[in-house]
Amino acid sequence: MRISVDHEKLERFSSNDVKFYLKYSSFVFKALKKPSFQKFLRWMLKQEKIEEQIVSAVQVKVLPFRRKNGNAVAGKCNTAKGRIRIYPKTVKFCQIFKQKFGRNNLLAYAGNRARAALIHELLHLKYAKDEKTVRELAKEYFCIFTQNQCTQSSRSLFIYRMIFNAKTSGKENHSHGSNTSRAKVNLGETCLRASGFFK
Ligand SMILES: [Zn+2]
Repeated sequence: MRISVDHEKLERFSSNDVKFYLKYSSFVFKALKKPSFQKFLRWMLKQEKIEEQIVSAVQVKVLPFRRKNGNAVAGKCNTAKGRIRIYPKTVKFCQIFKQKFGRNNLLAYAGNRARAALIHELLHLKYAKDEKTVRELAKEYFCIFTQNQCTQSSRSLFIYRMIFNAKTSGKENHSHGSNTSRAKVNLGETCLRASGFFK
């Protein structure tokens, strides 16, 4: 699977932000290239009978991407071209996360968010617009991967919940005005909630 960092124009960002996003993208690149994860992906593609060759490129984007409604996007898939893009969280989100949970949790979160996004987008190559199936399978496969990692620590559970805790059935929910203890975690087309972690 060809994975690369897709460098973009960074002029409109401050040098600190540029530094941050470059670091983030190279970290994600390494997380996705990790042999244990690559081995897992090959296995998953085989299970799903998705030909690895149809994945023409996996691009790690340096800059975050937002929809018109303001929701951040974790990944995108062009099924016709077999091209997948993985996007970072914003500098602001990461600063708050780091203050609350520390650097190590932020790194674990960033790496696993990107992995979960790649799993999700690869499944779109087969299930196209069937978002429900993609979400369910992505959750299962991500679980299998993290269990294989033998890291069923409190941290990996925490990260898993951050990425997948979807008590609101994964539907977008904009009624977060009154409840500030909830943080939205976006994954692909999904807008998932991690309840109770931002208390
Ligand atoms: Zn999706």
